[in-house]
Parts: sequence; C-alpha cells; structure tokens
Amino acid sequence: MFPKKSAAPKVTNPKNWSPQSWQDYPVKQLPTYPDEEELQQAYQQLQNNPPLTTSWEVEALKSKLADVAAGKGFLLQGGDCAESFADCKSDKIVNLLKVLMQMSFILIHEMETSVVRLGRIAGQYAKPRSRDYEIVDGEKIPNYRGDLINSIEQNLEDRIPDPHRLLEGYNKASLTLNFLRALSNEGFADLHHPEYWELDFMKQNEYYKDYETMVNSIQKAVNFMETITPNQFNTLQKIDVYTSHEALNLWYDSAQTQQVPRQPGWYNLSAHLVWLGNRTRDLDGAHVEYLRGIRNPIGIKIGPNYDMDHTLKLIERLNPIHEQGKIVLITRFGKDEVEDGLPDLIKKVKHEGMPVVWSCDPMHGNTFATDDNIKTRNFDSIISEMRKTFAIHRSQGSYLGGVHLELTGDNVTECVGGAKGLHEGELHKSYETYCDPRLNYQQSLETAFLIAKEWNE
Ligand code: PEP
Ligand code: MN
Repeated sequence: MFPKKSAAPKVTNPKNWSPQSWQDYPVKQLPTYPDEEELQQAYQQLQNNPPLTTSWEVEALKSKLADVAAGKGFLLQGGDCAESFADCKSDKIVNLLKVLMQMSFILIHEMETSVVRLGRIAGQYAKPRSRDYEIVDGEKIPNYRGDLINSIEQNLEDRIPDPHRLLEGYNKASLTLNFLRALSNEGFADLHHPEYWELDFMKQNEYYKDYETMVNSIQKAVNFMETITPNQFNTLQKIDVYTSHEALNLWYDSAQTQQVPRQPGWYNLSAHLVWLGNRTRDLDGAHVEYLRGIRNPIGIKIGPNYDMDHTLKLIERLNPIHEQGKIVLITRFGKDEVEDGLPDLIKKVKHEGMPVVWSCDPMHGNTFATDDNIKTRNFDSIISEMRKTFAIHRSQGSYLGGVHLELTGDNVTECVGGAKGLHEGELHKSYETYCDPRLNYQQSLETAFLIAKEWNE
C-alpha cells in the first residue's frame, strides 16, 4: 500500500505547514477561550520563553527508540494521568523519579537490556474528556480539562478556560524539569541501595522468593561495581530521564515549537516525546496537522474499535520518511479485547514495513467504576493485558518494546489489588488523582517485577 522507504531518510521541512497551520483545521478537545486578546498575549509570551528541552536531547531519545524498535532496549513510560500545578513539589517529583528508577533497575537487571525512562511529567497538564459538562448541585458547569486549561474546583467561574494557565503550565514544567535534571545529574544515593527499597509488602505475593533473589542479586551487582570501580561508578549516577505529555492543548505545544540553528525541521521543545490521544486522531483534524510537522518522536494511542486503514494512514502521515525511532504505537485495548484487536494490527504494520516501537498501555482499557462510583483499575487486569500483549507479540514474531503506565511514587489508594490486596472499600483512604487512577509505589514495583518475569517466560 505504501512505498517502502530507504534506510537513511532525508529530512525536509513539511510542505504547507507551520507551527500554527493547525488553526485552519477542525480541533477537538480544545475549548474556546473567552478572551481572544488575552489568549494571543499569553501565546506570544510563551513563544518568547526559553525552551525546556533541546533538539539534541530529542534526537538522542529518537535514536534510543530506534534501538528499542530493533529489539535492543525497553521503553518505560510512566507518571500521572494528569499532573497538577499544586503537586509541583519536591517530594512528589523525588518519589516519581525514585519509583521510575527502581523499576528501571529491576528491568535492566532481569531483562539484561537497556531501559529508556520516559516520564509523563513536566507538561502532562491537559486532559481529553468524554463529556464537555458536568452537573454540580443542579448546575451545569464545564468539565475539568486539566490545570493547563481550567481549575478542578467545581464552580462555574473556575471552570472557564484561562489563557494565563498556559504560562503557569510552562513555569511549573520548568521548575519540575529543573529539579529532575539536578537529581539525575547527581544521582540520589538510595537508588543504588536496594536495601532501602520498601519491599516488605512483597512477602504477601506468591512470587516473593523470586523477588528476594532478584533484589539480592541487584544488591550484589551494585556492591561489586562500587568495590572495583569506585570512581567510575559515580558516573553511573548520571541517569537519563526524558519527558512526555499528550500534545492536546495545541496553543501550549505550538507556541514552544521552534527551528534550531543548523538543524532541519521544527522541534516541540516543551518535551522530548509527545503523544496523540485516542480521541484527537482524525486525519483531517488539527492535532494530526500539528504533529505531522515536528521532529520529536510521537506516541500514538490505539484502542478498541480502531479503523485499520485510518491507523495505517495516520502512521504514514506522521512518519512519511519511515524514520526509525519516530513512532511509538501505544496499544490500550483492555484485557478482554486485546486478543481480538492487536494481532491484525501487528500483521499490517509489519506488512507495510513501518518502523515502530510497540508499547503496551494496560491501564486505559481496564478502567471501571465501583458501586460507589469511584473510577478504578484492577491490578490483575493490568497485568493480564500486559501478559497477553507480550504473548501476542511473541506469536506474531514481533517485539513488544515498552510499557506505558499511569503511576506515582506515593502511597495512594487508586487501583485495587496487588500484593497488598487493596480492596474497593479502601479506595477512599488516599484517592488523590486529578483524573485516572494510578498504580501506587508498591503496585508499580510489583508491576516491574512481573514485567521482568513475563519477559523471561
Ligand atoms: C491518557 O493517556 O491519559 C489518555 C487519556 O489516554 P487515551 O487517549 O488512550 O484515552
Ligand atoms: Mn489517563
């Protein structure tokens, strides 16, 4: 259907495209700001701010993703469903980095492969919603769409889209990124000391003996390295963490899209990777128009009821030169649908010779509401989709190169199950998410152990 491309694609600037060309297309999930002049002022200010990331970091991530696509490495993407401005705080950032690091250590050690860490952080402030409005005390008010757009407070005034939030989003992202960079440059000591990890909860899991052996073995490897190369080992503390968010609020993303000297093309320098959500992927829509013009790697969420022809055209539109490491296909079918939906997609993408990283999002297809109407996810369903996805890729002779998880380093109670057996009645104890339910610290570590276990099946 699509012509096969050569190995060394030529980068040219996209035709009839500018960071603002999306404005000529129908846009979904982006509310109208009431004051156009205020919006334009905020937009221009955002355009003048220094970038949060650099083009060479973006290219470095792309090149690592190209390795992953070729079966050399694994992508670990994780963080909040919706980051909030209020949680731009030291402990939240430390805890997220810590859990991502610990998970990546487990994966590296057990899977003997390199791991690309990609936070849903420093910009994940905008949310697609299935309903535009909600009813609060009999009053119809606009739905919350993420801190980048309006406030979670349930009253009409706070729900009106406010363009100043674009600038506040930039400020919060830049504070977050600054701290992340400082932490990952110097490392933090306990990352190298598995004995500090809080693993007691694992005793209740049937695989506890395996976990214990794994942790002891990581410990030995770290001790060995520290003993034989005490100085060089410090350099291991410099860790790479990349950032990602959904490119949903196109005002935010396009204002930070720039050309850089001596490099062809345009870069979204508000993050390293941005993704296209399940609800904004119309070929003739504004989001696809914006994304076709940037050089960043792009994630594409694909859920049940996808249209095959549309999906292949979408991949082609976003990566017409078949560049390696450019597209991450993030499948999110749900444990009951994945066996129906995924195999054909794998076959077709392979047949068309499209280079992609396959990643599994086992969260979004497994959400349900409890009898008390609390949105949650079951740990076993998440693991089940992940296992089935691994098995399907194996049977198709393809390579599952990553996972995409909504998680936090905090001890929240948002998803049920896991070694601690969190049940529905406990969800209210520490239910803090601004949007979808996240795995907590322990559930996240347990997931990493189970991914590693599945990998070695
Ligand atoms: C998300 O990742 O939080 C999200 C909204 O995903 P999807 O587009 O798959 O619903
Ligand atoms: Mn979500």
